[in-house]
Amino acid sequence: MPYTGCMETLARHDLRHGDGRWLFVYGEHDGQQPPQDAPGVALPALHLRHDALTGQWVAISPARNQRPQSRPSLADTAPSCPLCPGGPELPFGYEAAVFENRFPTLLAAPPEAPALAGATRASHGRCEVVLYTPTHEGSLATLTSQELARVIAIWVDRSQALWEVPEHRYVLVFENRGEDVGATLSHPHGQIYALDHLPGMARIRLVALAAHRTVTETCLSCAVVQQDLDAADRTIAENPSFTVAVPFAPNWPFEVHVRARRHGARRLPDLTLEERADLARALRTVVRTYDRLYPDGPVAYMMVCQQAPADDTAEPSADWHLSFDFLPPNRSPDKLKVRASVETAAGFFINDTLPETSAAQLAAVSMAAQGASDAPVPDVEVIPVSHMAGSDITR
Ligand SMILES: [Zn+2]
Ligand SMILES: [Zn+2]
Repeated sequence: MPYTGCMETLARHDLRHGDGRWLFVYGEHDGQQPPQDAPGVALPALHLRHDALTGQWVAISPARNQRPQSRPSLADTAPSCPLCPGGPELPFGYEAAVFENRFPTLLAAPPEAPALAGATRASHGRCEVVLYTPTHEGSLATLTSQELARVIAIWVDRSQALWEVPEHRYVLVFENRGEDVGATLSHPHGQIYALDHLPGMARIRLVALAAHRTVTETCLSCAVVQQDLDAADRTIAENPSFTVAVPFAPNWPFEVHVRARRHGARRLPDLTLEERADLARALRTVVRTYDRLYPDGPVAYMMVCQQAPADDTAEPSADWHLSFDFLPPNRSPDKLKVRASVETAAGFFINDTLPETSAAQLAAVSMAAQGASDAPVPDVEVIPVSHMAGSDITR
């Protein structure tokens, strides 16, 4: 799947639901509007509370209990799917789309935080849903090369917009696939959260990067990339722009990280067109591998795109390398690793598989899963074709 150098433009149509939520339709669109009479979901109790003992902010979001649930199995029938064309979110056909979550934890204009005995703040940020394809069944592994290139271009487009909001310090593109990680809808989709503060895991990484820089005057992420490149026994697939490897110290038995090799590739919008095509290839390989790891069906996973958070000067953290971390909960076809007391309360993970053994198993499946007949991944440039007047938020 070589870099083709041929550019495809992808139109973006900026629409609004009647309840004010943004809807971005990518590709062909005939001008139909989403329903203008649907009432919004009331979120009166939504706010953040500060845990004084950990320094962490916790979102209090009781309205999430109203979320729809459809059984996320292959037997799931498309007509009940709210994400299929003609459903309540997209009442018309689409090629790919992004909309603001109907049940958000974070909002551009959140309700005021209640005054309580402890510290509170408004739940400011964004929660968006990314629809990869109008087809109800499938995954990142089964998208066509064009669809996959479009999804990456859409992640770049949305990340760019969300990073431009000065308050945003952290933007997380992610996907929960499968019932085992709490996905409530099976239609191929992911999500994006933007936060106005640094969550705990980001703070831990930033401290590690800063400490390494202070001591060695070099980039810790570059060192990790080199360590992974040198570790043939943890490598899942070769890729010119990314390492595709089981990390040295994985929390999860079949964890895989896809990490940008180039220093300076810190966020999705930093990627060159060649790197985007290589990212498509890497993600497809990993998900194909998970799809074939066990005979009785695809492995559930959490996929998180780690982009450089904004540091104290609002600049992207300099020594951060973009990565896509895949965190599948299985340790065997029928056994889930339960994140129990020690992992949850202490953050001390116990991995009962040898990372090199998992990597050998994944690499063998990955070799067999390589698709020689994949069409080349096109370059995709998003072009906004319409703007709503009167916007009071940055898209
Ligand atoms: Zn669907
Ligand atoms: Zn680096």
